[in-house]
Amino acid sequence: MDRYKKLSKYLKEKYHARVHKLPLSAGFTCPNRDGKISKGGCIFCDPTGSGFATLGSNVPIQEQVIKMIERAEKRFKAKKFIAYFQAFSNTYASPEKLEKIYESALIDPRIVGLDVSTRPDLLQEEVLDVLEKFKKKVNLTVEVGLQTVNYKTLKILNRGHTLAEFVDAVNRLKKRNFDVVAHVIVNLPWDDIEDVVETAKILSALNVDGVKLHSLYVVQNTELAKMFLNGEVSICSIDEYVDRVITFIEYLDPNIIIHRLVADPPKKGTIFGNWNMKKQDIVRIIEEEMEKRDTFQGKKYGYLRR
Ligand code: SF4
Repeated sequence: MDRYKKLSKYLKEKYHARVHKLPLSAGFTCPNRDGKISKGGCIFCDPTGSGFATLGSNVPIQEQVIKMIERAEKRFKAKKFIAYFQAFSNTYASPEKLEKIYESALIDPRIVGLDVSTRPDLLQEEVLDVLEKFKKKVNLTVEVGLQTVNYKTLKILNRGHTLAEFVDAVNRLKKRNFDVVAHVIVNLPWDDIEDVVETAKILSALNVDGVKLHSLYVVQNTELAKMFLNGEVSICSIDEYVDRVITFIEYLDPNIIIHRLVADPPKKGTIFGNWNMKKQDIVRIIEEEMEKRDTFQGKKYGYLRR
């Protein structure tokens, strides 16, 4: 029995094939880095804006897509693909430019989906109009960074937005029937287990379609690296991480798809990442612990009066 709703199973059932996401970098930046909101960026944001798995924006998008498909066919025997605009904030441009960029990735009939990752304060109605056009062509998912519902922690992270902007973005996306995935870091050192529970409850109340759980990693040349190296912050143990993930899952609406249980730190420049463990080993530990506790997604989901 699956104790939580896995993305891989969901995609297989939906497309009857192995589906792989193609990480792409379109050369966007972020208002939290270019000075519009702040120059520092989020304290954990690596210099590639989480785009380290991409080929980099100096490679044209079409070439990135072709190469990533070849790689996914070879390594994962994938048959269908999702173009995933991952690096930085992928709605940070004029509607005309956005349309051109998204269109440039849809060059192969086996691309069944478009996945756009962004900040909650970059989803103005004119951006949603562009996304809506693509929703008619392929399955479209909008990934929105939140990290935590604790607004005090959001401030420490220098996110440059509060919970309100996230709630507003999700409400407007859901009004137009977009698929919404929220990014959460479960083990932020300033959050306790109650913040983790509240984050699961608010995401459930907002009816998001998916969640992506990350473990906090520390990368060179970030504000977090300075804080970590001078002892200002420490990262919790793997046992605590496992406990936080399981607690989050227990409070989460059982219909929400879980895209990931733990982050994938960059191969280069990581000062602390995943307790030096392989991602699949952490996933295995979480799943074994769920078995041991005989628990499952939504076990404590009774707080919404539906
Ligand atoms: S919003 Fe995203 S891209 Fe921008 S600074 Fe934060 S983590 Fe980096």
